[in-house]
Amino acid sequence: MIIDTNFLEQKNINSDICVIGSGPSSFSFIKNFLNLNYSVSIVESGNFFFDQKVNSLNHGQLDMFGNFPHKEYMLKSARVRMVGGTSNVWAGWSGPLLEEDFENKHWIPKSGWQINYDNLRNYYLEAQKILGLSKFIYDEKLFDFYPNKVNIKKLENFDNSFWQFSNPPLNFKKNFEQEIKELKNINLYFNCTATNFSKGIDEKIKTLVAYNSKKYKILFKAKYFILACGGIENATILLNSKQNIRQLDENNNIGNYFFEHPHVTLARGTTNNLNFLKTYKKQKLKQLNNIESLAGFSLKKEYRIQNQVSNCINVITNHNLLDVESAVILRHIMALRGKIVTTSKFINIFLKNIPELIKTLNLFTKNTFVKNKNFYIISRLEQQPLHENKVYLSNSKNKFGNFLPQINWRLSDLDYKTLKINYKAINKNFNLENIGKINPSNFIEIIDKESKKDVFAVGHHMGTTRMSENSSNGVVDKNLKVHNVKNLFVAGSSIFPTGGFINPTMTIIALSLRLGNHINELLKK
Ligand SMILES: Cc1cc2nc3c(=O)[nH]c(=O)nc-3n(C[C@H](O)[C@H](O)[C@H](O)COP(=O)(O)OP(=O)(O)OC[C@H]3O[C@@H](n4cnc5c(N)ncnc54)[C@H](O)[C@@H]3O)c2cc1C
Repeated sequence: MIIDTNFLEQKNINSDICVIGSGPSSFSFIKNFLNLNYSVSIVESGNFFFDQKVNSLNHGQLDMFGNFPHKEYMLKSARVRMVGGTSNVWAGWSGPLLEEDFENKHWIPKSGWQINYDNLRNYYLEAQKILGLSKFIYDEKLFDFYPNKVNIKKLENFDNSFWQFSNPPLNFKKNFEQEIKELKNINLYFNCTATNFSKGIDEKIKTLVAYNSKKYKILFKAKYFILACGGIENATILLNSKQNIRQLDENNNIGNYFFEHPHVTLARGTTNNLNFLKTYKKQKLKQLNNIESLAGFSLKKEYRIQNQVSNCINVITNHNLLDVESAVILRHIMALRGKIVTTSKFINIFLKNIPELIKTLNLFTKNTFVKNKNFYIISRLEQQPLHENKVYLSNSKNKFGNFLPQINWRLSDLDYKTLKINYKAINKNFNLENIGKINPSNFIEIIDKESKKDVFAVGHHMGTTRMSENSSNGVVDKNLKVHNVKNLFVAGSSIFPTGGFINPTMTIIALSLRLGNHINELLKK
């Protein structure tokens, strides 16, 4: 059932499981409980429509670095408060982490997961189905399905990696609504903002405190609590609960090691090798149910070990959207169309952004006339987890009395080194193989001066409740349970100890399916 808490009389709600948030992690978690005898409450801050006022609960402060792509992007645009969460603006780029992404790399401090790829393999297969994708192929075998035979020599010291696209991007909100509307055992409570947990006895959480939009307090009691509010809010809610629950974070780890997938324009280039450009263009694969796929190339593991660098993937593109903030704004507005309360609100937002939109249009027109042989290389970095990159509490509070998040984020020396080595290796290949000429971007040219301006975070918020062996070096264990608390679990990319270079949602889904299975087993005991 779906319940608007603004019209709810009841102020104490009991269930077996209480899930906070209704984005992809929550959506995948509850798959294990459809039509079972266990009762599930889902607590969601937003509504079924995008509402600027509700979204302003995503305010906070940034100790900024980079463009992000614009000032307010990381906290406000890259987090959406409504049913379906940030997936309401997601683009459908999908793929699993690589097997080696789970491994400890001695030259990267804090790398290594407590689980390995095999622990997620079957859940990845399920996630692939949920996302409406085709066969689970993410290596060079995918080239066999390309419409034109791939006819280029593999770049020395590089591997090819692939995305499949959920197209149109799976609408989690719609699916969520359809799936649980008629169910008796699952209730979605919307317009209900969680603020903090309160302590019970025996190292257990007793209650989740939440408020409806009219600021009436609602208390949720459950056997198990699953926090699924996204990479920044998961940490914020836990930090706001610390004063009530001492053992939650005795080692002050919550919020630390925040990382993103920083994007930079690495180079501009020209080539007469159209096969090269075709290979790295998005392709529609007829034999695989018309799924779309994209290949990128990343440094080989042996080369990374030899050079002691982390990972990054390079994609080839005609348009460099990272150059214009307006393109990102436009994309965001378009993604939210149909999800905003009224058409007039949509038109208002649209009109406000007209100058920026004109800039974007100019960019597209300019690029349309550029001959195919020009391209950009965009690199996406696996960022090193740094202790000082973190989400912590600012001095300001939201309307429910919760402290707002503040974020500190920068690149490390290893991150810069990786991008530099990556550029050099590509340049060498392009010269040797006569692929074409590339020129370094501004970013690469001034990298030694710690260039900041041209680094973009895209909205993949990871690492703030990292998985670890024990409470001294992280927040959750391999079953996603908060260390030293018996009944509190975390879902979403905040638990990633490292993030590879692939988009996070498929892994988020796989982890949540696995968590659902685990809680199901616990309830049976
Ligand atoms: C522009 C953009 C494009 C993207 N494209 C891709 C892509 O192509 N591929 C990919 O893999 N990933 C993509 N992502 C990332 C993807 O959207 C996230 O990985 C995914 O949405 C995370 O799911 P989640 O459920 O963990 O968190 P979210 O989707 O953020 O959901 C969190 C939920 O918690 C609710 N909530 C928050 N605070 C509270 C509170 N205090 N109380 C109650 N409820 C609360 C929110 O309203 C929301 O419903 C993109 C992100 C952005 C910004």
